[in-house]
Amino acid sequence: MSEAGPSTPLLEQYEGVKARYPGHLILFRVGDFYETFGDDARLLARELDVVLTARGPDTRGDRTPMAGVPHHAVETYLGRLVRKGYKVALCDQVEDARFAKGLVRREVTRVVTPGTVVEDRILGGPDHSFLASVVAPPDGPGAFAAVDITTGEWLHGPADGPGIEGLLSALAPFQPREILWSAGSPVEGPLLTALRREFPTARLEAAPPPLTEAELPASIRPTSELTASTRDADQRLAAYLRVTQPRVLPHLTVADRGTGNRRLVLDAKTLRHLEISRPMNPDDPKGATLLGYWDETVTAPGRRTLAFWLTNPLADRAAIAERQDAVARLVDRGAGLADLRSALRGIADLARIAARVAGRRVRPAELGVLRTSLGAVDRLPSWLSERPGTDRLSTLAVGLASPPGLVELLGSALPEDLPLSEDAGELFRPGHAPDVDRWRAAERTALAELAELERTEQESSGVRTLKVGYNQVFGYYFEVTRPHLARVPAHFRRRQTVAQGERFTSDGLEAIERRILEAREGARAAEAVRWVEFLDAVERHVGDLHRLARLVGELDALATFAHLAQERGYVRPIVDDSTALVVRDGRHPVLERLLEERFVPNDTELDGTDHRLLVLTGPNMSGKSTYMRQIGLLVVLAQAGSFVPARFARIGLVDHLFTRMGFTDEIGRGKSSFMVEMTEVAEILREADERSLVLLDEVGRGTSTFDGLAIAWATLRHLHDATRARCVLATHYHQLTDLVQGLPAARNAHFAVDDRPEGVVFLHRLVPGATDRSYGIHVARLAGVPHDVLEEAGRLLRQLESEGVGIASPRRSRVRGPRYTQAVLLPPTPAPEDPLLQELRNLDLDRLSPEEAVAKLRELRDRSAAGAHREAREG
Ligand code: ADP
Repeated sequence: MSEAGPSTPLLEQYEGVKARYPGHLILFRVGDFYETFGDDARLLARELDVVLTARGPDTRGDRTPMAGVPHHAVETYLGRLVRKGYKVALCDQVEDARFAKGLVRREVTRVVTPGTVVEDRILGGPDHSFLASVVAPPDGPGAFAAVDITTGEWLHGPADGPGIEGLLSALAPFQPREILWSAGSPVEGPLLTALRREFPTARLEAAPPPLTEAELPASIRPTSELTASTRDADQRLAAYLRVTQPRVLPHLTVADRGTGNRRLVLDAKTLRHLEISRPMNPDDPKGATLLGYWDETVTAPGRRTLAFWLTNPLADRAAIAERQDAVARLVDRGAGLADLRSALRGIADLARIAARVAGRRVRPAELGVLRTSLGAVDRLPSWLSERPGTDRLSTLAVGLASPPGLVELLGSALPEDLPLSEDAGELFRPGHAPDVDRWRAAERTALAELAELERTEQESSGVRTLKVGYNQVFGYYFEVTRPHLARVPAHFRRRQTVAQGERFTSDGLEAIERRILEAREGARAAEAVRWVEFLDAVERHVGDLHRLARLVGELDALATFAHLAQERGYVRPIVDDSTALVVRDGRHPVLERLLEERFVPNDTELDGTDHRLLVLTGPNMSGKSTYMRQIGLLVVLAQAGSFVPARFARIGLVDHLFTRMGFTDEIGRGKSSFMVEMTEVAEILREADERSLVLLDEVGRGTSTFDGLAIAWATLRHLHDATRARCVLATHYHQLTDLVQGLPAARNAHFAVDDRPEGVVFLHRLVPGATDRSYGIHVARLAGVPHDVLEEAGRLLRQLESEGVGIASPRRSRVRGPRYTQAVLLPPTPAPEDPLLQELRNLDLDRLSPEEAVAKLRELRDRSAAGAHREAREG
């Protein structure tokens, strides 16, 4: 075939396909490889790290870049491509190259996009794979719809708040792999920018025109009140699926995953800051994520459920109590819990096998796995259902059963051992498909005749070594070795000479061969028809299998919470409608695993009335951010229904968790860190209320100290007086601690430090009151700053301290232990009656844009600098 050489027709064929599939990466089957050419080849070489070669020269003498992957490994490469957000079209050879005249006919047989794959090897793991659509009207709240076609779950709802931020926040827990955006919206530009920023690996595509409500499959047609935007998001998503996944669309159902109840809003930033399911640093492969350290689930649906619960905690007391009751019952079961978990282990990813049945991408062997898994479902421990009631565990126990008829269907049809590919044949047990059986019987008869023919030819010729053989090219033949060639019968016709002798055929052999091939082809064709019928029959159970998988996932996630509670001594938190947040001996759920007994537990005592605000001061590295994350994570765990690492915990429901931590987030995205910080703080001040929990690390750090202090001061005051949220704030502005003393519902605390002659030891123990040394030089030493620099810094510090330069009201610490002197280089604290300060306090931050805030600050700074200058001159 000329295809292997430099041929322009092949490239022309490729260009034709490329033109019909714009925006797709075309993988073009040539022999044993899927090839790409031109720019696609460069892209493939870069993204997959495969060799870039060239083809040609063509008639113009040009060489075309070319890169390819072997066809047998294509799924692995597809996985890597779609996870990077590409849309790939597989262009296959649709006729047998051996019989093709000229160029082999090729057609796109499959389009693969990140949100529409169902094969495990492409998906790359059991995690949810969401395809989402977003609708962002210029006025009124936006909405989203998200579907995981691998599990059949369809979720939708309004944005968490106004504008694009509210939409991103609602979408964040889903981490969609592909997002359809509503083109033509007036906010299209900003929406796209925001989506790209928030979901950098997701593929974005303009949504097609929406289906009408009547065109939606019954299982996703709205039954309850939905906002117009939510319906729009549903209809656009369905429109996309009707084109790309018509087989799968009817099996999707709106799932109630507890989000029907109120949910604790964790916006995208908070999810990241608390490292719930993804590490802050995406290059860190495992990362110290909550999910990473809590995922002791034993099934794929269990892993998905746990991840979903931790990123979508509840804000509904009854729903949380229901999960806690189930966990408690499982904990009480003692060793029975281990039995339950080992029984669950036998259950494969039912949801995905079902999705592959629906999408007709299932391998026969996977139906064998399905059969075994259903057996395991039916063998779950009987104690689960022994106390019938209305609690969650009893409800699960009732639902956890194979779909009626399915086990019988699989059992009667399928043999014990099933092939990976349906082309391999032998898909059914004898008796299931009479026509297949008849063809197989015919094949067996013909094969027996073949054996008989071999025997008679041996006898009549007297050549004992005369043998019947088979190869791909010539089919069946007799083989006679060299020494016996003289005795070959006259009716043998010679076909081929081989090293050891000669090969022959005969009329009799050809007749039998025809019958064998005919029987095989008949069996194959009949089996293919029966296989489709069989899959149709299995497909009727897809909805039930999806539901069953969800129950398996729920039971596994509950059993995981119970297992962790048993093994690590966690306690059931009291979750109520109060505004308390009381924890005794709380531990950071991830760090305590890493540090083990070196981890120092700490208490927390907040409530919405007397102790709303806790201000943490103290040196870097003393444990401030760890403590704040610990509080956030304990709330997340408690409201996800889990027990928590503490001796006691009482948590009044939180419905929105705000965090502002570190500033690695948007540096390098063209915003100054101060601007980013101010935008985030403004959002918190605008939206938080008395049901919120606010965790703020180092407010005002992104700017010069005086600006920062002013901002931190005003923020603190606003949180205390107006927002009334429970709030923990860490600061290195020691001046703030004075303000705190004037606020009735705020308190200072710091982490104890042991200041020994041989060096400072951080005790990580929270103690009341403020501290006023930053131990910056100590931290610099830990970080490896050269000795002479440290010496010089130490000398300078002592000098400044003794001269009293820039020292604000030197005072003694009120806490026991070493006495600290103020050693912070800052301008003096403005007196409370200072007009500047009054102006600051009266600032209505809600009405200032971030730009105005910065301008105001600059003005305040300049005026205060001028004032300080005057004072210095006059004084
Ligand atoms: P800060 O925010 O005050 O700079 P971090 O919270 O980042 O300090 O803590 C610094 C380090 O101290 C952590 O990486 C951890 O190793 C250790 N640490 C923090 N809290 C504790 C604790 N409660 N028990 C033991 N070690 C802790």
